[in-house]
Amino acid sequence: MKVDLHNHSYFSDGFLSPKEIVRLASEANCDLFSLTDHDNTDGIAEAKDEAHKLGISLVNGVEISAFWRNSAIHIVGLGIDIDNDFLQTGLEFNQTLRKERAKKIALGLWRSGIKDALEKAQKISGGNMLTRTHFAQMLIQEGYCKDMKSVFRRYLSGRKPGGVRVEWKDFNEVIKWIHSAGGKALIAHPFRYRMTHTKIKKMLNDFKEANGDGFEVVNANSSAEEISLGNQWIEEYDLLASVGSDFHGWPNQRVQIGNLADLPNNSRAIWGYL
Ligand code: AMP
Ligand code: MN
Ligand code: MN
Ligand code: MN
Repeated sequence: MKVDLHNHSYFSDGFLSPKEIVRLASEANCDLFSLTDHDNTDGIAEAKDEAHKLGISLVNGVEISAFWRNSAIHIVGLGIDIDNDFLQTGLEFNQTLRKERAKKIALGLWRSGIKDALEKAQKISGGNMLTRTHFAQMLIQEGYCKDMKSVFRRYLSGRKPGGVRVEWKDFNEVIKWIHSAGGKALIAHPFRYRMTHTKIKKMLNDFKEANGDGFEVVNANSSAEEISLGNQWIEEYDLLASVGSDFHGWPNQRVQIGNLADLPNNSRAIWGYL
């Protein structure tokens, strides 16, 4: 069974259309696939349509920005009803925060001498929702940095020129948005938050207490050690395991759809519960 439940289209910070992404998933022989754009579900209808044509199973998905204590983290919602009002009101709240943040990022960049950042980032996003990825790609294209890693570190995080703190909702709230839409809530890429293992385990414990359903055990760049630890924590906190590449598809990125390690233990795989 080939599964990839975390992918982005140009409706958030991916490069390709939902249609192109579903085609890639089909070419990679995925049996089960999800489009999980950041804070919106605008690409799902197009993805559904193409998935139907190509005979591949598509799970409705979204990746929602949230807070755990003082850290910004991502919660993936899978198997959601995209017409659910409570969920969509939550997503609209996040979209508003993003619009406000984009202006502040541009202002910060302007103060450090980078002009017209908002307009240039909007050109790259094609008028769709703005994310930090669009600012990052713009700064690379303009020659300020050579790659994504350095541009986030030097311009788009913490106290750097385009670093802006956003007051996302607590993950307790976000879990409710997902559950009211009939979906499962999963912590995305737990090893990518610059947290110690002790802190990740605290987060998993709080997530379980808040009725969260699981977390991603396998991403595109997971090490064998991370997968084995994740598998252990799934048991320890009685959670479900998900698998997703976090594909974005920009020409300067290497991650491929459906090219993922297997889960060590399939009995707690999320697809048995969707
Ligand atoms: P945003 O949701 O607008 O805050 O943008 C966050 C997105 O930026 C993430 O979903 C990633 O796709 C991307 N991102 C963050 N840090 C990095 C990094 N170091 N390298 C590449 N992409 C990153
Ligand atoms: Mn992203
Ligand atoms: Mn993420
Ligand atoms: Mn993602």
